[in-house]
Amino acid sequence: MQTPASLLLMPDISGFTEFVHTTELQHSQQIVSGLLETLIAANQLGLTVAEVEGDAVLFYREGAVPTPAQVLAQARQMFAAFHAWLTDFQRTCPCGCAACQSAGQLTLKVVAHAGPLGFTTVRAQRKPFGEAVIVLHRLLKNDVPSHEYLLLTDDLLGGQCATAEAWAGARRRTAHYAGLGRVGYLHVPLRPAGAPAAPPAAFSWRGLWHGLGLRLWGGSRAT
Ligand SMILES: [Zn+2]
Repeated sequence: MQTPASLLLMPDISGFTEFVHTTELQHSQQIVSGLLETLIAANQLGLTVAEVEGDAVLFYREGAVPTPAQVLAQARQMFAAFHAWLTDFQRTCPCGCAACQSAGQLTLKVVAHAGPLGFTTVRAQRKPFGEAVIVLHRLLKNDVPSHEYLLLTDDLLGGQCATAEAWAGARRRTAHYAGLGRVGYLHVPLRPAGAPAAPPAAFSWRGLWHGLGLRLWGGSRAT
């Protein structure tokens, strides 16, 4: 019997330079901890935390892949909570160290993928493994020319899409990874609330539909 696809979702924080001084190191770790807690609390899709990996959280939802629109809404929820926490931190933190002063430069990207998962249990902690987990991690390093976006793979997009307005600014890309081959994905900008969502002049829905292929309507989810 074929294993049903599961969701993998990973918000990843970027922007801290390497700190060497003890105070800055401690404060940068406190800031990242606060942000990771905030991202976990922003879970609205019934996600399970597999583990915290440095400045990122690996979430999964087993055997039930949400629609792309639901994943986009989840990423926006995390993005809003992330920046609300940073705004509050900057307003209230009296510390002048380099870590605290540069917290406002932190950025968030969210990578989402779907595929069959295996699970292993280590010290009562259940963790997903398999090719889908490897693909997700490889996708953290990509050619997307921005810092704040949601990346969804073709396997997650399956046969569904959301309204044109919600997906404004979306772009397609393809990555090639040794041992994994070609991975197609869509990336969508994450913006602060109230920021203009109008697509740039070069945006073409025809191009996006074409890029997504014929799987938008009537296609079946790849597992
Ligand atoms: Zn500080």
